[in-house]
Amino acid sequence: MKKEMITIIGGGASGLVAAIFAKRNGADVTILERNNRIARKILATGNGRCNYTNVTANGLDYNNPDFVGYGLSHFSPQKAIAFFEELGIEPKIEGQGKAYPLSEQASSIVDVFLYELERLEIPVVSDAFVTRILRKQNGFVLILEDGRQFDTDKVILSTGGNSMPKSGSDGSGYDLAKNLGHHVTEVFPSIVKLKLDSPYLRHLEGIKMPTHLELLVGEEVIQTEYNDIIFGNYGISGPATLDISRKALELYRAGENPYLKLTLVTALDRRQVEERFLKLQDKPTDQSLVGLIHKRYISAIIKEAGIEKQNTLFKDLSKSEQVKLTDLLFNWRFKITGSKSFHDAQATAGGVDLKEIDSQTMESKRIPGLYITGEVMDIDGRCGGYNLQWAWTSGALAGTHAATGKAYDQNQ
Ligand SMILES: Cc1cc2nc3c(=O)[nH]c(=O)nc-3n(C[C@H](O)[C@H](O)[C@H](O)COP(=O)(O)OP(=O)(O)OC[C@H]3O[C@@H](n4cnc5c(N)ncnc54)[C@H](O)[C@@H]3O)c2cc1C
Repeated sequence: MKKEMITIIGGGASGLVAAIFAKRNGADVTILERNNRIARKILATGNGRCNYTNVTANGLDYNNPDFVGYGLSHFSPQKAIAFFEELGIEPKIEGQGKAYPLSEQASSIVDVFLYELERLEIPVVSDAFVTRILRKQNGFVLILEDGRQFDTDKVILSTGGNSMPKSGSDGSGYDLAKNLGHHVTEVFPSIVKLKLDSPYLRHLEGIKMPTHLELLVGEEVIQTEYNDIIFGNYGISGPATLDISRKALELYRAGENPYLKLTLVTALDRRQVEERFLKLQDKPTDQSLVGLIHKRYISAIIKEAGIEKQNTLFKDLSKSEQVKLTDLLFNWRFKITGSKSFHDAQATAGGVDLKEIDSQTMESKRIPGLYITGEVMDIDGRCGGYNLQWAWTSGALAGTHAATGKAYDQNQ
């Protein structure tokens, strides 16, 4: 059988796995990477620890459960853990199923990739920025920015999305796909800090604590998270926010006016809080909140309740002020006004239209011999190891099929 010549555009998460699977399945593989080294983004993942999968990952953790379902049930998180174990990575499974290398270093993941590429004799051409993919009879020609050209039988497009452009994934893959006739859905940042419209951000900046956070449109609850939030002078971040950001921005972009609702007090119910205020009614209002909520919330929430003087005795507040203050402890709303940019985002929502990609092989339905992996396609997952899992899964499926013409076999 003829040995397939496969060229991978992008030496990031999905491209590296695609290369390894293609080579292990007998193909002649080359990686073209625009940077002077591979896997820059991997080094930044998981705050430098690389949360490389999530053992609970399933279709519902992604924007398109149907599309990812096949891949995740074949190259599953357990398969990813076994793949990395074989390369030398001992998994450390933390809360909520997040897997990290036992070394706690993202560089371990990069090091084992580098060793495996060397062992399999997969060449990496660095400083190789691909600007055009041309079709020719039975293959492709890849044109680089500096004029170099590479002939190949098959191409795996693994250029990443638009998040963290300084890592090399600046959206150039979308143009490559579009030039070949693919459609690209609207892209926007995901797993990203949200901007809020609030006069209190200066007071709230620096607050970091687990909070019950809800995404609302009108009175409809769209998503609920309980995890850390962090206030900044622009708005809000932290894991709970990052997880909500995808849906929040989708709604915001659709003109739906989404809000975040914070429940500052979760351990006590409303009656218990009212009893507390009754006991402390001789105290100034700000003092009546000390020990109940984070200190930095206090002056902001009193202002939001329309109370002019922070030190008014609680018993001297009007009934409606008392009710409003109590309400806010359980239901404080902030208008979402957008997000930080792709520079701050961990993932990209949108990308190459999934209708044009075979979900079992990652081969383009428009251009036979072209495969698309990872974040450049319209797939994004939650925060917590899900996006890298998709990179590994899509890379394994694409590399295997490109080399053999057969779908990835989970028993292999
Ligand atoms: C700060 C940060 C932290 C993250 N943490 C996590 C985490 O802990 N867990 C998790 O699951 N996910 C995490 N992610 C998301 C995860 O890193 C990505 O989803 C994943 O890397 C996507 O893999 P990819 O192969 O599609 O693209 P990438 O890994 O981005 O790789 C794309 C590669 O293609 C190269 N390239 C691009 N265009 C061209 C071109 N035209 N020619 C040649 N080369 C090109 C780029 O230089 C890059 O090396 C994080 C993301 C960021 C930004």
